[in-house]
Amino acid sequence: ANTTETLGFQTEVKQLLQLMIHSLYSNKEIFLRELVSNASDACDKLRFEAIDHPELLEGAGELAIRIGFDKEARTITIADNGIGMSRDEAIANLGTIARSGTREFFQNLTGDKQKDAQLIGQFGVGFYSSFIVADRVSVVSRRAGAAADEAIRWESAGDGEFTISPAEKAQRGTEITLHLRDDADEFLSSWKLREVLRRYSDHISLPIIMKKEEWDAEKSETVQKDEDETVNQASALWTRSKSDITDEQYTEFYKHVAHDFEGPLAWTHNRVEGRSEYTQLLFVPKRAPFDMWDRNKKHGVNLYVKRVFIMEDAEQLLPGYLRFVRGIIDSADLPLNVSREILQESRDVKAIREGSTKRVLSLLEDLAENKPEDYATFWTAFGQVLKEGVGEDAANIERVVKLLRFASTHGGSDAQTVSLADYVGRFKEGQDKIYYVTAETYAAAANSPHLEIFRKKGIEVLLLTDRVDEWMVSFVREFEGKQLVSIAKGGLDLGALADEDDKKRQDDVSEEFKPVVERLKTALGEQVKDVRVTFRLVDSPACVVVDDQDMSQHLQRLLKAAGQ
Ligand code: ADP
Ligand code: MG
Repeated sequence: ANTTETLGFQTEVKQLLQLMIHSLYSNKEIFLRELVSNASDACDKLRFEAIDHPELLEGAGELAIRIGFDKEARTITIADNGIGMSRDEAIANLGTIARSGTREFFQNLTGDKQKDAQLIGQFGVGFYSSFIVADRVSVVSRRAGAAADEAIRWESAGDGEFTISPAEKAQRGTEITLHLRDDADEFLSSWKLREVLRRYSDHISLPIIMKKEEWDAEKSETVQKDEDETVNQASALWTRSKSDITDEQYTEFYKHVAHDFEGPLAWTHNRVEGRSEYTQLLFVPKRAPFDMWDRNKKHGVNLYVKRVFIMEDAEQLLPGYLRFVRGIIDSADLPLNVSREILQESRDVKAIREGSTKRVLSLLEDLAENKPEDYATFWTAFGQVLKEGVGEDAANIERVVKLLRFASTHGGSDAQTVSLADYVGRFKEGQDKIYYVTAETYAAAANSPHLEIFRKKGIEVLLLTDRVDEWMVSFVREFEGKQLVSIAKGGLDLGALADEDDKKRQDDVSEEFKPVVERLKTALGEQVKDVRVTFRLVDSPACVVVDDQDMSQHLQRLLKAAGQ
C-alpha cells in the first residue's frame, strides 16, 4: 500500500492502554526502560540473523541505542539500529497482543486500580507503556535488508486506532518519537533521562548514547553539544564479576530478560570452567506467569553463545520441572549457528543442563534453609511444578523430595509448609512410616474418616490435595528409609503404633460382628471385594478402602474425569 492506512487496535490492546495509562500513572518513567529493552532485543535479533546473513550488518556502524529530546517540540526519541520492522511486523507487533496468557490476564482484572496495576506488571507493559507519557507516538522503522524507501511510519494517539504509511529512513532500525503529555515535562531533561537510564538500563550490553551537555554561561542554561556520550556501562552484565554488580542491577537485568515488572525472588550467577565452559545467571521469579500451565508455550532461559544472543526460551537448557526459571546461559563451546535440533543432541548442552539443574536446586535449598518466608513464596507460586521433578529427574529425586512441602494434620490449615524431614522429626514413639491421604480438596482430606484412628493416637498425616499429588507419591516410595503409606489403602498396619487394645478390640469385635459382616457381604454382593471389621474408625460407622494393589479412589476419579 502506498498511502496511509488507518487500522484499529485489537480490543485487548485498547483495554490494556486504558488500564495502563490510569494505573501506572505514578510510575511513569518505566516507559523508558521498556523502550530501551525493546531496542536492545532488536539489536540482539539482528546479531542473531546476521550469523547466517552477515550482509545485514553492513552500513550502520556499531549497534547502539540513542536517546534524544527536544524541549521546543516536547519530544523524546529512542532510536536503535537493530532488526527494524516491516509493515506487517509493525501491524502485528504494535497493534495486537499475541502473547499466551492474554485471556487469563483479562479474566483476572478486578477493577481495583492497585491490584490491576500489579497484574499489568506481571503481564508485561512493553511498548504500549509509551502512552503513559505520550499523547502521540510515532514509530519509523526500516527492516534490516530493506531499502531506504521501504521504511514505514506507524502513528497513534493511543485512542483505539493507529495509522501506517510508507516512509524513508536512511539507516536500518527503529526510531520512536514520543510527543509528551503536558504532565510529562520532567523528562525533557538530560539529567532526568540519564538518571532513569542509569537506574533501569545500566545492565544493557549495548551502548546507550546521548548528546553531551554543557553549561552555557551566556544563556545561563545547559545546552546540548554535538558530541556523543555513552551513559551506561555497556557491557553484558553476566560477564562482570559478581562483586561489581549491585542487587539493583541484577533486579533490573531480571526485569529485562523475564519481561517482568516485579523483581526476582532469588538468583544464582556462576561462571563454570572445565570440560564445558559457560556462564549462567538464573533467576527464580516471585510469581507464576499467566501461561505457566499452557503446554504450547515454550519456557526456559535465553541462550547466548560468546555473548551473541542465540534464542529465547531454550527449553533444552533446563528440565521441564524447572521451567519457572528465567535468565541467561552464555556458552563458550556451542557453535554460533546452533539450532534447536542441535541443542537436543549436544553433549555440551547436556553438561549445561545438568550443571544448571544442580545450581537451581542449590539455590532453592539455600532459600528453604535460610529464608523460609521466601521459600514459602516460591512454593506457593511454583511448588506444583517442582513436584513434577520427582517423576522427571531420577538423578536428583532425593534433592527434589527434600524440597517438597505439604499440608498436614499438624498444621491444621491448607498451607503447604511441612517438609518430610519436619514430619519425621515429629514421629511418635514406635512410628516407622510416613502416612498420607489423598483427596480432591483440602476439606475432603481433612475430614476423611480414615484420619480418625490417627487423630485419636495423635499421629500426623500428610494431606495431599493437588492434582499432581497422586502421581507424585507413586514416585516417592520412601524418604530416608521411611516408607510412605496411604492410610486409605488395604488393611491398615499400624505396626508398633497399634496398642494391645486395638488388637483385642479388632479380634473381639470381629468375632461379635461376624453375622453382620456376612449379611453386608450378601447385600453388597459384586459391588465390593470384601467386608472387614476395622479399628481404624473412631466415630464413623464405615468407610470404603481400596486394596493395596489397586488404584486409589482419588486416582480412579481423576482418570474417570479424564475420560479413561
Ligand atoms: P515484548 O518486548 O515483551 O515482546 P513489547 O510490547 O515491548 O513486548 O514489544 C512488542 C513487539 O514489538 C516486540 O516483541 C517486537 O517484535 C516489536 N518491537 C518493539 N520495539 C521494537 C524495536 N525497537 N525494534 C524492532 N521491533 C520492536
Ligand atoms: Mg518489550
